[in-house]
Amino acid sequence: MPINFLYPEYEVVRNPDRCIACRACERQCANEVHHYDSELGRMLSDESKCVCCHRCVSLCPTRALKIVKSDHTFKENANWTSQTITDVYRQAGSGGVLLSSMGNPNPLPVYWDKILINASQVTNPSIDPLREPMETKTFLGAKPEDIERDADGKIVNNLKPQLALSVPIMFSAMSYGSISYNAHESLARAAQALGTYYNTGEGGLHEDFYQYGKNTIVQVASGRFGVHEGYLNAGAAIEIKMGQGAKPGIGGHLPGAKIVGDVSKTRMIPEGSDAISPAPHHDIYSIEDLRQLVLSLKEATNYKKPVIVKIAAVHNVAAIASGIARSGADIIAIDGFRGGTGAAPARIRDHVGIPIELALASVDQRLRDEGIRSRVSLVAGGSIRSSSDVVKAIALGADAVYIATGALLALGCHLCRSCHSGKCNWGIATQRPELVKRLNPNVGSERLINLITAWNHEIKEMLGGMGINSIEALKGNRLMLRGVGLNETELRILGIKHAGE
Ligand code: SF4
Ligand code: SF4
Ligand code: SF4
Repeated sequence: MPINFLYPEYEVVRNPDRCIACRACERQCANEVHHYDSELGRMLSDESKCVCCHRCVSLCPTRALKIVKSDHTFKENANWTSQTITDVYRQAGSGGVLLSSMGNPNPLPVYWDKILINASQVTNPSIDPLREPMETKTFLGAKPEDIERDADGKIVNNLKPQLALSVPIMFSAMSYGSISYNAHESLARAAQALGTYYNTGEGGLHEDFYQYGKNTIVQVASGRFGVHEGYLNAGAAIEIKMGQGAKPGIGGHLPGAKIVGDVSKTRMIPEGSDAISPAPHHDIYSIEDLRQLVLSLKEATNYKKPVIVKIAAVHNVAAIASGIARSGADIIAIDGFRGGTGAAPARIRDHVGIPIELALASVDQRLRDEGIRSRVSLVAGGSIRSSSDVVKAIALGADAVYIATGALLALGCHLCRSCHSGKCNWGIATQRPELVKRLNPNVGSERLINLITAWNHEIKEMLGGMGINSIEALKGNRLMLRGVGLNETELRILGIKHAGE
Protein backbone atom coordinates (compact mmCIF):
# COMPACT_ATOMS: atom_id res chain seq x y z
CA MET A 1 0.00 0.00 0.00
CA PRO A 2 1.45 3.42 -0.94
CA ILE A 3 2.40 5.72 1.92
CA ASN A 4 -0.05 8.59 2.47
CA PHE A 5 2.07 11.70 3.05
CA LEU A 6 -0.92 13.80 4.09
CA TYR A 7 -2.05 14.44 7.64
CA PRO A 8 -5.70 15.36 8.38
CA GLU A 9 -6.30 19.08 8.11
CA TYR A 10 -8.71 19.15 11.05
CA GLU A 11 -8.96 17.40 14.39
CA VAL A 12 -12.20 16.38 16.05
CA VAL A 13 -12.01 17.21 19.76
CA ARG A 14 -14.65 15.37 21.80
CA ASN A 15 -15.03 16.18 25.48
CA PRO A 16 -15.49 12.74 27.13
CA ASP A 17 -17.09 14.32 30.20
CA ARG A 18 -19.85 15.80 28.08
CA CYS A 19 -20.37 13.19 25.38
CA ILE A 20 -23.44 11.07 26.17
CA ALA A 21 -22.90 8.82 23.12
CA CYS A 22 -26.23 9.88 21.62
CA ARG A 23 -24.74 9.36 18.13
CA ALA A 24 -26.35 12.51 16.74
CA CYS A 25 -22.98 13.50 15.26
CA GLU A 26 -22.78 10.14 13.49
CA ARG A 27 -26.21 10.68 11.92
CA GLN A 28 -25.47 14.29 10.96
CA CYS A 29 -22.11 13.78 9.23
CA ALA A 30 -22.48 12.71 5.60
CA ASN A 31 -18.71 12.39 5.48
CA GLU A 32 -18.85 9.49 7.95
CA VAL A 33 -16.34 10.94 10.36
CA HIS A 34 -18.02 9.74 13.58
CA HIS A 35 -18.90 6.21 14.59
CA TYR A 36 -19.79 4.41 17.76
CA ASP A 37 -17.49 1.61 18.85
CA SER A 38 -19.68 -0.81 20.78
CA GLU A 39 -16.69 -2.73 22.16
CA LEU A 40 -15.09 0.38 23.58
CA GLY A 41 -18.50 1.86 24.41
CA ARG A 42 -17.59 5.28 23.05
CA MET A 43 -17.54 7.48 19.96
CA LEU A 44 -14.51 7.49 17.64
CA SER A 45 -13.60 9.76 14.71
CA ASP A 46 -11.94 9.35 11.32
CA GLU A 47 -10.58 12.87 11.10
CA SER A 48 -9.16 12.46 7.60
CA LYS A 49 -12.73 12.82 6.23
CA CYS A 50 -13.66 15.98 8.14
CA VAL A 51 -14.18 19.13 6.03
CA CYS A 52 -14.93 21.44 8.99
CA CYS A 53 -18.56 22.11 8.13
CA HIS A 54 -19.58 22.34 11.81
CA ARG A 55 -22.82 20.42 11.34
CA CYS A 56 -21.99 18.00 14.16
CA VAL A 57 -20.75 20.82 16.39
CA SER A 58 -23.99 22.77 15.94
CA LEU A 59 -26.22 19.72 16.52
CA CYS A 60 -24.38 18.10 19.44
CA PRO A 61 -26.88 18.38 22.32
CA THR A 62 -24.21 18.67 25.02
CA ARG A 63 -21.70 20.91 23.24
CA ALA A 64 -19.18 18.11 23.53
CA LEU A 65 -17.56 18.73 20.14
CA LYS A 66 -15.20 21.19 18.56
CA ILE A 67 -13.23 21.04 15.33
CA VAL A 68 -9.76 22.54 15.41
CA LYS A 69 -7.28 23.12 12.65
CA SER A 70 -4.45 20.70 13.00
CA ASP A 71 -1.17 22.25 14.10
CA HIS A 72 0.71 19.49 12.33
CA THR A 73 3.16 21.10 9.95
CA PHE A 74 5.62 20.23 7.25
CA LYS A 75 9.07 21.75 7.38
CA GLU A 76 7.77 24.66 5.37
CA ASN A 77 9.35 27.94 4.35
CA ALA A 78 8.15 31.14 2.69
CA ASN A 79 8.42 29.54 -0.75
CA TRP A 80 7.33 25.97 -0.01
CA THR A 81 4.40 26.52 2.30
CA SER A 82 2.47 23.64 3.87
CA GLN A 83 -0.32 24.23 1.36
CA THR A 84 2.03 24.06 -1.63
CA ILE A 85 3.65 20.87 -0.34
CA THR A 86 0.22 19.35 0.37
CA ASP A 87 -0.97 20.18 -3.15
CA VAL A 88 2.07 18.48 -4.72
CA TYR A 89 1.51 15.37 -2.61
CA ARG A 90 -2.19 15.31 -3.54
CA GLN A 91 -1.51 15.61 -7.26
CA ALA A 92 1.37 13.12 -7.15
CA GLY A 93 -1.07 10.72 -5.53
CA SER A 94 -4.09 11.31 -7.77
CA GLY A 95 -2.72 12.53 -11.10
CA GLY A 96 -5.73 14.83 -11.24
CA VAL A 97 -6.67 18.49 -11.29
CA LEU A 98 -7.18 19.92 -7.79
CA LEU A 99 -10.86 20.69 -7.38
CA SER A 100 -12.30 23.07 -4.84
CA SER A 101 -15.43 25.09 -4.11
CA MET A 102 -16.39 28.64 -3.17
CA GLY A 103 -14.21 31.68 -3.92
CA ASN A 104 -10.50 32.44 -4.05
CA PRO A 105 -9.13 32.17 -0.48
CA ASN A 106 -5.69 33.65 -1.17
CA PRO A 107 -4.45 36.75 0.68
CA LEU A 108 -4.64 39.06 -2.34
CA PRO A 109 -5.81 42.65 -1.75
CA VAL A 110 -9.48 43.11 -0.91
CA TYR A 111 -9.94 46.65 -2.21
CA TRP A 112 -13.29 47.07 -0.48
CA ASP A 113 -11.32 47.08 2.79
CA LYS A 114 -8.99 49.80 1.49
CA ILE A 115 -11.80 52.14 0.53
CA LEU A 116 -13.61 54.36 3.05
CA ILE A 117 -16.97 56.12 2.77
CA ASN A 118 -17.60 59.83 3.34
CA ALA A 119 -20.01 61.38 5.87
CA SER A 120 -21.49 64.87 6.11
CA GLN A 121 -20.23 67.26 8.77
CA VAL A 122 -21.33 70.87 9.42
CA THR A 123 -21.47 72.28 5.90
CA ASN A 124 -23.68 69.64 4.28
CA PRO A 125 -26.38 68.20 6.49
CA SER A 126 -26.81 64.48 6.88
CA ILE A 127 -30.25 62.92 6.49
CA ASP A 128 -31.95 60.80 9.11
CA PRO A 129 -33.46 57.79 7.31
CA LEU A 130 -35.82 57.14 10.23
CA ARG A 131 -37.50 60.51 9.70
CA GLU A 132 -37.03 61.32 6.04
CA PRO A 133 -37.69 59.31 2.87
CA MET A 134 -34.76 57.32 1.56
CA GLU A 135 -35.05 55.65 -1.85
CA THR A 136 -33.29 52.33 -2.36
CA LYS A 137 -35.36 51.37 -5.39
CA THR A 138 -33.40 51.15 -8.59
CA PHE A 139 -34.00 50.13 -12.20
CA LEU A 140 -31.73 48.09 -14.43
CA GLY A 141 -31.73 48.35 -18.20
CA ALA A 142 -30.82 50.68 -21.03
CA LYS A 143 -31.80 54.30 -20.41
CA PRO A 144 -32.89 56.59 -23.27
CA GLU A 145 -30.14 58.78 -24.67
CA ASP A 146 -32.58 61.44 -25.92
CA ILE A 147 -35.99 62.69 -24.95
CA GLU A 148 -38.37 62.04 -27.82
CA ARG A 149 -41.54 64.07 -28.33
CA ASP A 150 -44.53 63.37 -30.53
CA ALA A 151 -46.15 65.87 -32.91
CA ASP A 152 -48.06 67.39 -29.98
CA GLY A 153 -44.90 67.88 -27.96
CA LYS A 154 -45.70 65.11 -25.50
CA ILE A 155 -42.83 62.97 -24.30
CA VAL A 156 -42.74 59.58 -26.00
CA ASN A 157 -42.00 56.68 -23.67
CA ASN A 158 -38.98 55.10 -25.36
CA LEU A 159 -37.78 53.29 -22.25
CA LYS A 160 -36.56 49.77 -22.98
CA PRO A 161 -37.62 46.91 -20.66
CA GLN A 162 -36.29 47.39 -17.13
CA LEU A 163 -35.83 45.31 -14.01
CA ALA A 164 -37.23 47.11 -10.94
CA LEU A 165 -35.36 46.33 -7.71
CA SER A 166 -36.64 47.47 -4.30
CA VAL A 167 -33.11 46.96 -2.99
CA PRO A 168 -29.95 47.20 -5.11
CA ILE A 169 -29.07 43.58 -4.38
CA MET A 170 -29.90 40.43 -6.39
CA PHE A 171 -29.11 36.76 -5.82
CA SER A 172 -26.51 35.61 -8.29
CA ALA A 173 -26.68 32.55 -10.55
CA MET A 174 -26.62 29.18 -8.80
CA SER A 175 -28.00 26.27 -10.79
CA TYR A 176 -30.48 23.64 -9.69
CA GLY A 177 -28.12 20.71 -9.62
CA SER A 178 -25.25 22.57 -8.07
CA ILE A 179 -27.57 23.65 -5.23
CA SER A 180 -30.63 21.86 -3.93
CA TYR A 181 -34.32 22.27 -4.64
CA ASN A 182 -34.82 23.69 -1.13
CA ALA A 183 -32.00 26.20 -1.59
CA HIS A 184 -33.57 27.37 -4.86
CA GLU A 185 -36.98 27.62 -3.27
CA SER A 186 -35.52 29.70 -0.42
CA LEU A 187 -33.88 32.09 -2.90
CA ALA A 188 -37.00 32.35 -5.08
CA ARG A 189 -39.32 33.07 -2.17
CA ALA A 190 -36.93 35.60 -0.64
CA ALA A 191 -36.51 37.40 -3.97
CA GLN A 192 -40.27 37.64 -4.33
CA ALA A 193 -40.77 38.96 -0.79
CA LEU A 194 -37.93 41.47 -1.11
CA GLY A 195 -38.89 42.77 -4.55
CA THR A 196 -35.67 41.65 -6.18
CA TYR A 197 -34.45 38.76 -8.36
CA TYR A 198 -32.78 35.40 -8.09
CA ASN A 199 -31.04 33.64 -10.97
CA THR A 200 -31.55 30.09 -12.26
CA GLY A 201 -27.93 29.61 -13.22
CA GLU A 202 -27.34 27.27 -16.11
CA GLY A 203 -29.47 24.37 -14.91
CA GLY A 204 -32.88 25.36 -16.27
CA LEU A 205 -35.96 26.25 -14.23
CA HIS A 206 -37.77 23.59 -12.23
CA GLU A 207 -41.47 23.59 -13.15
CA ASP A 208 -42.43 24.28 -9.51
CA PHE A 209 -40.61 27.63 -9.69
CA TYR A 210 -42.37 29.10 -12.73
CA GLN A 211 -44.66 30.78 -10.20
CA TYR A 212 -41.73 33.01 -9.16
CA GLY A 213 -41.07 34.07 -12.76
CA LYS A 214 -41.55 37.80 -12.11
CA ASN A 215 -38.58 37.62 -9.73
CA THR A 216 -36.48 35.23 -11.78
CA ILE A 217 -33.55 35.80 -14.12
CA VAL A 218 -33.19 32.82 -16.46
CA GLN A 219 -29.70 32.04 -17.62
CA VAL A 220 -28.49 30.86 -21.02
CA ALA A 221 -25.01 29.36 -20.74
CA SER A 222 -22.78 27.52 -23.18
CA GLY A 223 -24.36 24.13 -22.39
CA ARG A 224 -27.86 25.54 -23.08
CA PHE A 225 -29.29 23.16 -20.48
CA GLY A 226 -33.04 23.45 -20.00
CA VAL A 227 -33.35 26.32 -22.49
CA HIS A 228 -36.62 26.43 -24.46
CA GLU A 229 -39.09 29.10 -25.41
CA GLY A 230 -41.23 28.64 -22.30
CA TYR A 231 -38.14 28.96 -20.10
CA LEU A 232 -37.02 32.16 -21.80
CA ASN A 233 -40.46 33.69 -21.39
CA ALA A 234 -40.85 32.51 -17.80
CA GLY A 235 -38.36 34.95 -16.30
CA ALA A 236 -38.21 38.72 -15.96
CA ALA A 237 -34.83 38.90 -17.72
CA ILE A 238 -32.44 36.62 -19.59
CA GLU A 239 -28.78 36.37 -18.70
CA ILE A 240 -26.21 35.12 -21.20
CA LYS A 241 -23.36 33.67 -19.19
CA MET A 242 -20.12 34.26 -21.06
CA GLY A 243 -17.89 33.87 -18.03
CA GLN A 244 -17.73 33.40 -14.30
CA GLY A 245 -15.29 35.04 -11.86
CA ALA A 246 -14.31 31.79 -10.15
CA LYS A 247 -13.24 30.14 -13.39
CA PRO A 248 -12.75 32.58 -16.26
CA GLY A 249 -12.00 31.04 -19.61
CA ILE A 250 -13.05 27.51 -18.80
CA GLY A 251 -16.30 25.59 -18.87
CA GLY A 252 -18.17 23.70 -16.20
CA HIS A 253 -18.78 20.07 -15.37
CA LEU A 254 -21.55 18.68 -13.20
CA PRO A 255 -20.83 14.97 -12.72
CA GLY A 256 -23.39 12.44 -13.99
CA ALA A 257 -23.94 11.26 -10.41
CA LYS A 258 -25.69 14.56 -9.71
CA ILE A 259 -27.87 14.39 -12.84
CA VAL A 260 -30.73 12.50 -11.29
CA GLY A 261 -34.52 12.83 -11.15
CA ASP A 262 -35.78 16.38 -11.47
CA VAL A 263 -32.27 17.74 -12.12
CA SER A 264 -32.07 15.62 -15.28
CA LYS A 265 -35.61 16.62 -16.32
CA THR A 266 -35.01 20.32 -15.68
CA ARG A 267 -31.73 20.31 -17.60
CA MET A 268 -33.29 18.22 -20.38
CA ILE A 269 -30.42 15.72 -20.40
CA PRO A 270 -30.48 11.98 -19.61
CA GLU A 271 -30.02 10.76 -16.05
CA GLY A 272 -26.43 9.93 -15.21
CA SER A 273 -24.92 11.85 -18.14
CA ASP A 274 -22.27 14.42 -17.30
CA ALA A 275 -23.50 18.02 -17.74
CA ILE A 276 -20.55 19.59 -19.54
CA SER A 277 -20.66 23.30 -20.32
CA PRO A 278 -18.10 24.09 -23.03
CA ALA A 279 -15.61 26.89 -22.32
CA PRO A 280 -16.93 29.08 -25.16
CA HIS A 281 -20.42 29.33 -26.63
CA HIS A 282 -19.88 27.49 -29.89
CA ASP A 283 -21.81 30.15 -31.79
CA ILE A 284 -20.00 33.17 -30.29
CA TYR A 285 -16.54 34.18 -31.45
CA SER A 286 -17.04 37.94 -31.73
CA ILE A 287 -19.20 40.83 -30.49
CA GLU A 288 -21.21 40.46 -33.72
CA ASP A 289 -21.96 36.83 -32.81
CA LEU A 290 -22.93 37.90 -29.30
CA ARG A 291 -25.22 40.53 -30.79
CA GLN A 292 -26.96 37.82 -32.80
CA LEU A 293 -27.68 35.80 -29.66
CA VAL A 294 -28.85 38.92 -27.76
CA LEU A 295 -31.24 39.78 -30.59
CA SER A 296 -32.39 36.16 -30.98
CA LEU A 297 -33.31 36.01 -27.30
CA LYS A 298 -35.12 39.35 -27.56
CA GLU A 299 -36.96 38.11 -30.63
CA ALA A 300 -37.95 34.91 -28.80
CA THR A 301 -39.41 36.98 -25.96
CA ASN A 302 -41.07 39.65 -28.07
CA TYR A 303 -38.59 42.36 -26.98
CA LYS A 304 -40.17 42.41 -23.52
CA LYS A 305 -37.21 41.26 -21.41
CA PRO A 306 -33.89 42.94 -20.75
CA VAL A 307 -30.87 40.83 -21.67
CA ILE A 308 -27.91 40.62 -19.30
CA VAL A 309 -24.46 39.54 -20.44
CA LYS A 310 -22.36 38.14 -17.61
CA ILE A 311 -18.59 38.18 -17.93
CA ALA A 312 -15.67 37.38 -15.68
CA ALA A 313 -13.41 40.25 -14.64
CA VAL A 314 -10.29 39.77 -16.76
CA HIS A 315 -7.43 41.98 -17.95
CA ASN A 316 -9.17 43.72 -20.84
CA VAL A 317 -12.60 43.80 -19.23
CA ALA A 318 -13.25 47.47 -20.08
CA ALA A 319 -12.78 46.91 -23.82
CA ILE A 320 -14.96 43.78 -23.68
CA ALA A 321 -17.69 45.67 -21.82
CA SER A 322 -17.54 48.44 -24.40
CA GLY A 323 -18.28 45.86 -27.10
CA ILE A 324 -21.09 44.30 -25.07
CA ALA A 325 -22.69 47.72 -24.54
CA ARG A 326 -22.83 47.99 -28.33
CA SER A 327 -24.22 44.49 -28.79
CA GLY A 328 -27.76 45.41 -27.81
CA ALA A 329 -27.46 43.95 -24.30
CA ASP A 330 -29.21 45.97 -21.58
CA ILE A 331 -27.18 44.99 -18.54
CA ILE A 332 -23.60 43.83 -18.03
CA ALA A 333 -22.85 41.69 -14.98
CA ILE A 334 -19.17 41.61 -14.04
CA ASP A 335 -17.97 38.82 -11.78
CA GLY A 336 -14.72 39.36 -9.90
CA PHE A 337 -12.03 36.79 -9.16
CA ARG A 338 -13.29 36.13 -5.64
CA GLY A 339 -16.66 34.91 -6.89
CA GLY A 340 -17.83 31.57 -5.54
CA THR A 341 -18.55 28.36 -7.38
CA GLY A 342 -19.81 24.86 -6.70
CA ALA A 343 -16.70 23.38 -8.27
CA ALA A 344 -13.64 24.81 -9.98
CA PRO A 345 -10.05 23.78 -10.60
CA ALA A 346 -8.30 25.41 -7.64
CA ARG A 347 -5.41 26.74 -9.75
CA ILE A 348 -7.80 28.55 -12.10
CA ARG A 349 -9.89 29.91 -9.26
CA ASP A 350 -6.89 31.19 -7.36
CA HIS A 351 -4.77 32.62 -10.20
CA VAL A 352 -7.01 33.75 -13.07
CA GLY A 353 -8.99 36.99 -13.27
CA ILE A 354 -8.83 40.34 -11.51
CA PRO A 355 -10.57 41.99 -8.51
CA ILE A 356 -14.11 43.22 -9.08
CA GLU A 357 -13.30 46.64 -7.59
CA LEU A 358 -10.71 47.44 -10.28
CA ALA A 359 -12.77 45.86 -13.07
CA LEU A 360 -15.92 47.75 -12.12
CA ALA A 361 -14.20 51.12 -11.88
CA SER A 362 -12.42 50.70 -15.20
CA VAL A 363 -15.57 49.51 -17.02
CA ASP A 364 -17.69 52.37 -15.67
CA GLN A 365 -15.01 54.90 -16.64
CA ARG A 366 -14.53 53.47 -20.12
CA LEU A 367 -18.26 53.51 -20.87
CA ARG A 368 -18.48 57.11 -19.61
CA ASP A 369 -15.47 58.15 -21.70
CA GLU A 370 -17.10 56.62 -24.76
CA GLY A 371 -20.45 58.27 -24.03
CA ILE A 372 -22.31 54.96 -23.89
CA ARG A 373 -22.75 54.48 -20.14
CA SER A 374 -26.52 54.98 -20.33
CA ARG A 375 -26.89 52.15 -22.83
CA VAL A 376 -26.32 49.53 -20.14
CA SER A 377 -26.62 49.01 -16.42
CA LEU A 378 -23.73 47.45 -14.52
CA VAL A 379 -24.10 44.74 -11.92
CA ALA A 380 -21.05 43.91 -9.79
CA GLY A 381 -20.50 40.53 -8.17
CA GLY A 382 -17.67 38.38 -6.92
CA SER A 383 -17.59 38.55 -3.14
CA ILE A 384 -19.88 41.32 -2.01
CA ARG A 385 -19.82 40.57 1.71
CA SER A 386 -21.73 43.35 3.46
CA SER A 387 -23.85 46.47 3.05
CA SER A 388 -20.70 48.62 3.00
CA ASP A 389 -19.37 46.61 0.04
CA VAL A 390 -22.70 47.34 -1.69
CA VAL A 391 -22.40 51.08 -1.04
CA LYS A 392 -18.80 51.16 -2.25
CA ALA A 393 -19.67 49.16 -5.39
CA ILE A 394 -22.47 51.56 -6.29
CA ALA A 395 -20.29 54.61 -5.67
CA LEU A 396 -17.64 53.02 -7.91
CA GLY A 397 -20.15 52.75 -10.74
CA ALA A 398 -22.42 49.72 -10.23
CA ASP A 399 -26.18 50.05 -10.60
CA ALA A 400 -26.71 47.03 -8.35
CA VAL A 401 -24.85 44.01 -7.03
CA TYR A 402 -25.14 40.25 -7.13
CA ILE A 403 -24.54 38.19 -4.00
CA ALA A 404 -24.24 34.40 -3.75
CA THR A 405 -21.79 33.24 -1.07
CA GLY A 406 -23.32 35.71 1.40
CA ALA A 407 -26.77 34.31 0.57
CA LEU A 408 -25.59 30.74 1.11
CA LEU A 409 -24.07 31.72 4.44
CA ALA A 410 -27.48 33.08 5.42
CA LEU A 411 -28.91 29.65 4.56
CA GLY A 412 -26.43 27.94 6.89
CA CYS A 413 -23.38 27.37 4.69
CA HIS A 414 -20.24 27.12 6.82
CA LEU A 415 -17.84 27.70 3.93
CA CYS A 416 -16.33 24.24 4.19
CA ARG A 417 -15.45 24.41 0.47
CA SER A 418 -16.61 20.92 -0.36
CA CYS A 419 -19.71 21.64 -2.47
CA HIS A 420 -18.14 19.60 -5.29
CA SER A 421 -18.43 16.44 -3.16
CA GLY A 422 -22.25 16.62 -3.26
CA LYS A 423 -22.34 15.83 0.47
CA CYS A 424 -23.25 19.26 1.84
CA ASN A 425 -24.27 18.59 5.42
CA TRP A 426 -26.38 21.77 5.45
CA GLY A 427 -28.66 20.67 2.59
CA ILE A 428 -27.48 23.39 0.20
CA ALA A 429 -25.00 22.01 -2.36
CA THR A 430 -26.41 18.50 -2.54
CA GLN A 431 -29.10 16.44 -4.24
CA ARG A 432 -29.22 13.69 -1.63
CA PRO A 433 -32.81 13.73 -0.33
CA GLU A 434 -31.87 13.04 3.29
CA LEU A 435 -29.51 16.05 3.21
CA VAL A 436 -31.75 18.37 1.14
CA LYS A 437 -34.53 18.16 3.73
CA ARG A 438 -32.19 19.63 6.36
CA LEU A 439 -32.74 23.03 4.76
CA ASN A 440 -36.27 24.19 5.48
CA PRO A 441 -37.29 26.72 2.76
CA ASN A 442 -39.48 28.56 5.29
CA VAL A 443 -36.48 29.14 7.53
CA GLY A 444 -34.12 29.68 4.59
CA SER A 445 -36.22 32.35 2.91
CA GLU A 446 -36.81 34.07 6.25
CA ARG A 447 -33.08 34.27 6.93
CA LEU A 448 -32.41 35.66 3.43
CA ILE A 449 -35.12 38.27 3.89
CA ASN A 450 -33.62 39.20 7.27
CA LEU A 451 -30.14 39.54 5.79
CA ILE A 452 -31.16 41.80 2.92
CA THR A 453 -33.52 43.82 5.12
CA ALA A 454 -30.67 44.40 7.58
CA TRP A 455 -28.32 45.41 4.76
CA ASN A 456 -30.93 47.74 3.35
CA HIS A 457 -31.27 49.50 6.73
CA GLU A 458 -27.50 49.92 6.84
CA ILE A 459 -27.39 51.20 3.26
CA LYS A 460 -29.99 53.84 4.16
CA GLU A 461 -27.93 54.86 7.21
CA MET A 462 -24.80 55.23 5.08
CA LEU A 463 -26.65 57.16 2.37
CA GLY A 464 -28.12 59.48 5.00
CA GLY A 465 -24.70 59.94 6.56
CA MET A 466 -23.38 61.09 3.19
CA GLY A 467 -26.26 63.54 2.91
CA ILE A 468 -27.85 61.84 -0.06
CA ASN A 469 -31.27 60.25 -0.17
CA SER A 470 -31.29 57.76 -3.02
CA ILE A 471 -29.31 55.00 -4.66
CA GLU A 472 -29.57 56.98 -7.91
CA ALA A 473 -27.60 59.83 -6.32
CA LEU A 474 -24.90 57.43 -5.17
CA LYS A 475 -24.30 55.75 -8.52
CA GLY A 476 -20.78 56.48 -9.74
CA ASN A 477 -20.37 59.16 -7.05
CA ARG A 478 -16.71 58.45 -6.41
CA LEU A 479 -16.28 61.68 -4.50
CA MET A 480 -17.90 59.76 -1.63
CA LEU A 481 -14.93 57.36 -1.51
CA ARG A 482 -11.34 57.64 -0.33
CA GLY A 483 -8.52 55.10 -0.47
CA VAL A 484 -6.18 54.04 2.31
CA GLY A 485 -2.82 52.40 1.70
CA LEU A 486 -3.25 52.36 -2.07
CA ASN A 487 -0.60 53.36 -4.59
CA GLU A 488 -1.04 55.95 -7.35
CA THR A 489 -1.93 53.37 -10.01
CA GLU A 490 -4.58 51.74 -7.85
CA LEU A 491 -6.10 55.11 -6.96
CA ARG A 492 -6.09 56.14 -10.63
CA ILE A 493 -7.87 52.97 -11.76
CA LEU A 494 -10.40 53.24 -8.93
CA GLY A 495 -10.83 56.93 -9.76
CA ILE A 496 -10.71 57.98 -6.10
CA LYS A 497 -8.50 60.20 -3.98
CA HIS A 498 -6.41 59.09 -1.05
CA ALA A 499 -7.81 59.64 2.44
CA GLY A 500 -6.77 63.10 3.64
CA GLU A 501 -7.01 64.63 0.16
S1 SF4 B 1 -23.51 14.43 19.30
FE1 SF4 B 1 -22.24 15.08 21.01
S2 SF4 B 1 -23.05 13.94 22.75
FE2 SF4 B 1 -23.84 12.94 20.95
S3 SF4 B 1 -22.33 11.33 20.49
FE3 SF4 B 1 -21.70 13.11 19.32
S4 SF4 B 1 -20.25 14.15 20.62
FE4 SF4 B 1 -21.37 12.73 21.91
S1 SF4 C 1 -17.37 17.01 8.25
FE1 SF4 C 1 -18.71 18.40 9.39
S2 SF4 C 1 -20.19 17.08 10.41
FE2 SF4 C 1 -18.49 15.78 9.78
S3 SF4 C 1 -17.11 15.74 11.53
FE3 SF4 C 1 -16.41 17.38 10.26
S4 SF4 C 1 -17.43 19.20 11.07
FE4 SF4 C 1 -18.53 17.41 11.86
S1 SF4 D 1 -22.70 25.05 0.44
FE1 SF4 D 1 -22.43 23.29 1.81
S2 SF4 D 1 -20.72 22.13 0.93
FE2 SF4 D 1 -20.68 24.19 0.01
S3 SF4 D 1 -19.28 25.35 1.31
FE3 SF4 D 1 -21.35 25.71 2.10
S4 SF4 D 1 -21.62 24.18 3.72
FE4 SF4 D 1 -19.87 23.52 2.49
